[in-house]
Amino acid sequence: MNIRILQKGFNYSQDGPGNRLVYHLQGCNLHCPWCSNPESMALCGGIETLVSDLINEAVKAEMMFFDGGGVTFTGGEPTVQFDALKEALVLLKENKINTAIETNGTSVRLPELFEFIDFLIMDFKHHNSEKLKEFTGVGNETVIKNIAAACEKNKNPLLRIPLIHGFNSSVEDAENFAEILKNYKEKLSIEILRYHEYGKDKWKQNNMEYTMENAFVDDEEFENFCDILKSNGFTLIKT
Ligand code: SF4
Repeated sequence: MNIRILQKGFNYSQDGPGNRLVYHLQGCNLHCPWCSNPESMALCGGIETLVSDLINEAVKAEMMFFDGGGVTFTGGEPTVQFDALKEALVLLKENKINTAIETNGTSVRLPELFEFIDFLIMDFKHHNSEKLKEFTGVGNETVIKNIAAACEKNKNPLLRIPLIHGFNSSVEDAENFAEILKNYKEKLSIEILRYHEYGKDKWKQNNMEYTMENAFVDDEEFENFCDILKSNGFTLIKT
């Protein structure tokens, strides 16, 4: 089976434990206006390769997977190429390689992958489905179901909340996130990622319009948001 890759490279402990070979897969089903990899959205881009070639590459790189490292699939959105992703994860586990994925959580098939994933990173961009749909094109119902399913399977997901002024960063937003996640606070951790504009130039380079304005979160807003989650018993981490 073929798989389309936007880019690949090593990083340390940012997308799962230890030193990892990270594959950014091509294609995304969302259209977040703050996306830092807008060139990954279209499925037609990137370079196509065989899953078996990717596995061979990962097996050869095994001595680099120190400190509990392994292979991470991110995107774009890796579940857009679901069958190829699943095949890759199954083969990596057969080769006893640690696996992680970073997903936007919107695939109804995500739980099929749990048994082949050692570390699960999921976005949880908004507690309000209509607001999420307004900004990205897809609501949060499946994301919430997948968070629940992951916690019930003891996958201890790391949830990433991109904190964006005017979208999800108010005190009320923080309280609503806490309310939705309250039953799972023992089984997940949360990382708050402040809005940045690292990908802004790429939008222009890809003839796409960057529409975000006044979205930076100041220190006070960030601290208030974090404090509410912490006071509700959530574990906040920084990778
Ligand atoms: S889900 Fe991620 S890759 Fe997809 S558009 Fe949003 S930020 Fe970009």
